[in-house]
Amino acid sequence: MPSYKIIFLGGGNAAGYAARAFVENGLNAGELAIVTEEPYCAYERPALSKGYLLGAARLPGFHTCVGGGGERQAPEWYSGKGIAYLTNSRVIKADLAKKALTLESGEVLSYEHLIIGTGARPIRLTESAVPGANLGGIHYLRDVKDADALVAAIAVAKETGGKAIVVGGGYIGMEVAAGLASNGLTVTLIFPGSHLLSRLFTPELAAVYERLYDAKGVKMVKGAKVVGFGGADGKVSSVDYKDATGAVHHLEASLVVVGVGAQANVELFKGQLEMAAGGIKVDGQMATSVPGVFAVGDVAAFPLASVATGQVSLARQEHVTHCRLSAAQAAKAILGLSPPPYDYLPYFYSRVFALSWVFYGEAPAKAAKVHFGDMTEAKCFGCLWLGTGGKVVGAFLEGGSADDAVVLKGAVAKGLLLSAEAVTGSGAAVVAQLK
Ligand code: NDP
Repeated sequence: MPSYKIIFLGGGNAAGYAARAFVENGLNAGELAIVTEEPYCAYERPALSKGYLLGAARLPGFHTCVGGGGERQAPEWYSGKGIAYLTNSRVIKADLAKKALTLESGEVLSYEHLIIGTGARPIRLTESAVPGANLGGIHYLRDVKDADALVAAIAVAKETGGKAIVVGGGYIGMEVAAGLASNGLTVTLIFPGSHLLSRLFTPELAAVYERLYDAKGVKMVKGAKVVGFGGADGKVSSVDYKDATGAVHHLEASLVVVGVGAQANVELFKGQLEMAAGGIKVDGQMATSVPGVFAVGDVAAFPLASVATGQVSLARQEHVTHCRLSAAQAAKAILGLSPPPYDYLPYFYSRVFALSWVFYGEAPAKAAKVHFGDMTEAKCFGCLWLGTGGKVVGAFLEGGSADDAVVLKGAVAKGLLLSAEAVTGSGAAVVAQLK
């Protein structure tokens, strides 16, 4: 039975960043294996919903750790360091008591330390039994295989003048709708909320992006739920949606992309590990309830202190920055370096068309929301969420520089106090106030 000191299970961003942290902090050849069902070494997943759809990003160009400003770790990097990268290797059973993983091939791998980085998968409309949801031509986006299928479908739609429908107004919905429109397709974006990215955007912020989508020819259907798909020969050709009044509408579609959220891949470990917040419960070292087993990235429910209240609760964060940092944290803990408890400040970013934004902290409904900058021209604008005593608990900026992002992060991290009336002037002036 092949045996390793450490096995990293999962081939997402976190795998690449964990390998880097192990190498930087002292790893001997032969000690680490990465096991993934994907055919590729770890890559920067955020590219899939952005540059990949425009033909700009292709492997091996975006292997980790280029997104974090590090070395591009192509397969030779791992072999050169004596790291076994087992691609096309799906794990079908994890026996944590025996410290053994069983692959689909029947092979069993054993370990001393296990890092679980199994990530999340898209929620599928088949799970809520939407009629026709299993038709061909309905796409989800999570890995290179999904992105390749979508790129091929875009090429066909471009040739045939096919219409595209995107379901969901979150990260995937916004970024993919922009990618499809940039490819010249006719796009309709359907989502249940009253505005885009409702879990973060204020209605005022959303309005700026919605104007841009409108200008780019993307039609938006808000407050609507998809209730069925029609098709012929196993391929989708239409979408039925219900509007807020309950009326059902019918739209033609040759290409559908669904982004209605994600769920953590925890099934292999149910009954073996303590769970929380839809993921695997870990402590500040990313250690789970079973000694020697760690969890990182999307799947980990870790102690997160609220910026607004200071209250600590177990939370998952589906973001690449957390994948990178938590992977390094687990690597250091396994190497006996006893890193200080994981201290994470929530961070999100996105790029759509020529716009690009960052957000740090949290966006509580109760906080005062103070908008600033040039929202009419969509140049450099943003919003601050001010909590008790004017504490900056969330900061959003569109069109700023990398240095501006550092300023925003610092303001939220140190809990800068501001009065709403003081937040005036251009985006640049407000960023200067946050220093
Ligand atoms: P999100 O949670 O961001 O958005 C889900 C969207 O789907 C919301 O608009 C939600 O509406 C809507 N929705 C929920 N249920 C339904 C339904 N039954 N029918 C129609 N719409 C529905 O998830 P995504 O799928 O966009 O993204 C998945 C994950 O991918 C994210 O969590 C993120 O980690 C990652 N991602 C991140 C990116 C980034 O950070 N820039 C880019 C791309 C992906 P409502 O809110 O009103 O419920």
